Amino acid sequence: MAHVPESVELFVCESCQVTHAGTPIHVEAGQHTFEAPDACGSCGEADFVELSDWVHYHD
Ligand SMILES: [Zn+2]
Repeated sequence: MAHVPESVELFVCESCQVTHAGTPIHVEAGQHTFEAPDACGSCGEADFVELSDWVHYHD
Protein backbone atom coordinates (compact mmCIF):
# COMPACT_ATOMS: atom_id res chain seq x y z
CA MET A 1 0.00 0.00 0.00
CA ALA A 2 1.44 3.31 -1.01
CA HIS A 3 1.93 5.81 1.75
CA VAL A 4 1.72 9.46 0.85
CA PRO A 5 3.30 11.84 3.34
CA GLU A 6 0.83 14.44 4.55
CA SER A 7 3.25 17.29 4.15
CA VAL A 8 6.51 17.51 2.29
CA GLU A 9 9.32 19.42 3.90
CA LEU A 10 10.78 22.12 1.72
CA PHE A 11 14.36 23.31 1.56
CA VAL A 12 15.53 26.68 0.28
CA CYS A 13 18.85 27.00 -1.52
CA GLU A 14 20.96 29.57 0.35
CA SER A 15 22.58 30.65 -2.85
CA CYS A 16 19.76 31.20 -5.34
CA GLN A 17 16.71 30.74 -3.06
CA VAL A 18 15.08 28.13 -5.27
CA THR A 19 12.82 25.90 -3.18
CA HIS A 20 13.26 22.13 -3.40
CA ALA A 21 11.00 19.41 -2.07
CA GLY A 22 12.82 17.20 0.42
CA THR A 23 13.47 13.59 -0.46
CA PRO A 24 11.29 11.38 1.74
CA ILE A 25 13.33 8.85 3.70
CA HIS A 26 11.45 5.94 5.22
CA VAL A 27 12.48 5.62 8.86
CA GLU A 28 9.91 3.17 10.22
CA ALA A 29 6.37 2.05 9.53
CA GLY A 30 4.29 5.04 8.58
CA GLN A 31 7.04 7.53 9.35
CA HIS A 32 9.17 9.56 7.01
CA THR A 33 11.79 12.18 7.38
CA PHE A 34 12.96 14.51 4.65
CA GLU A 35 16.44 15.11 3.37
CA ALA A 36 17.66 18.12 1.46
CA PRO A 37 18.84 17.41 -2.07
CA ASP A 38 22.53 16.69 -2.57
CA ALA A 39 22.89 19.73 -4.76
CA CYS A 40 20.71 22.54 -6.02
CA GLY A 41 19.30 21.75 -9.44
CA SER A 42 19.50 25.40 -10.37
CA CYS A 43 22.91 26.63 -9.22
CA GLY A 44 24.67 23.46 -8.04
CA GLU A 45 25.34 24.69 -4.51
CA ALA A 46 24.73 22.26 -1.63
CA ASP A 47 23.73 24.59 1.19
CA PHE A 48 20.05 24.42 2.09
CA VAL A 49 17.91 25.91 4.84
CA GLU A 50 14.65 24.29 5.88
CA LEU A 51 11.72 26.40 4.82
CA SER A 52 10.53 26.57 8.46
CA ASP A 53 13.92 28.07 9.38
CA TRP A 54 14.13 30.36 6.37
CA VAL A 55 11.88 32.98 8.00
CA HIS A 56 14.23 33.22 10.98
CA TYR A 57 17.23 33.12 8.68
CA HIS A 58 16.30 36.58 7.44
CA ASP A 59 15.56 38.17 10.81
ZN1 LIG B 1 20.60 27.18 -5.88
